[in-house]
Amino acid sequence: MNMELNELDKIADTLGDSVKMPVLFIGHGSPMNAIESNSFTQMLKRNGELIKAKYQPKAVLVVSAHWLTNGTFVNNVARPQTIHDFGGFPQALFDMQYPAPGAPELAKEVAMLSEAIIETDDWGLDHGAWTVLHHLFPEADIPSFELSIDYYRPMEYHLELADQLKKLRQKGVLIIGSGNIVHNLRMSMGKMQQNDKNPYEWATEFDYWVKNNLEKGDYSALANYSTTGQAGLLSVPTPDHYIPILYTVGLADKQDPIKQLHEEVYYGGLSMRTFQVG
Ligand code: ZN
Repeated sequence: MNMELNELDKIADTLGDSVKMPVLFIGHGSPMNAIESNSFTQMLKRNGELIKAKYQPKAVLVVSAHWLTNGTFVNNVARPQTIHDFGGFPQALFDMQYPAPGAPELAKEVAMLSEAIIETDDWGLDHGAWTVLHHLFPEADIPSFELSIDYYRPMEYHLELADQLKKLRQKGVLIIGSGNIVHNLRMSMGKMQQNDKNPYEWATEFDYWVKNNLEKGDYSALANYSTTGQAGLLSVPTPDHYIPILYTVGLADKQDPIKQLHEEVYYGGLSMRTFQVG
């Protein structure tokens, strides 16, 4: 009897585990990327195709800069709504839907990985998720769900929580941190209106500082970004768009290579840097 149970366990393990999934960080930028075609969106499309062919993800879990909460939540709805959480954009953007199914069973598993994570049905897919998923997986056939960012926690909390989620990489879950390394909208607005794509010096400096630490594998330096002084202060005026990177690197194993997929700092203070771990 025991032997049979052991055999069953083995079979269950084989079914449950798949090739270790990569992890992405995506600089999502303006919601307009959802309806535009540019070097960034084409890069997403290409890499989505590659990932789908090579890894066949069972689900996508997005840690989005646009779901900030008190506490950490995972959404468990079966049919997540497409949330149009922005204003002042063309109607075509509000008309867009990303009808991917949710992943209620996996949400349960995620909540079991850490006492800090609570299930909720009170969220769908915000624009930090669907504007990039639309290009990565245009067929919307991969179950997609989100993990929120507890905005009241220190940076180290996010690195440590990500470490507890590592098992998901073996379960076919593609995890995406969606934010922007440099995100100073106040100082970019004027340049956007004048279509001036030149970056500020501090923006390039900070973006390269991050790239450098990614290459060195110094992820705790990334959690202490305030050591970069003025460049960090201007690049990360509020940490909402920066925190997702801590989930991406917190999910990295030492031997995982980091592949830069897109490098672009434009409109003064906006970095579209996108990279893959593993
Ligand atoms: Zn955003």
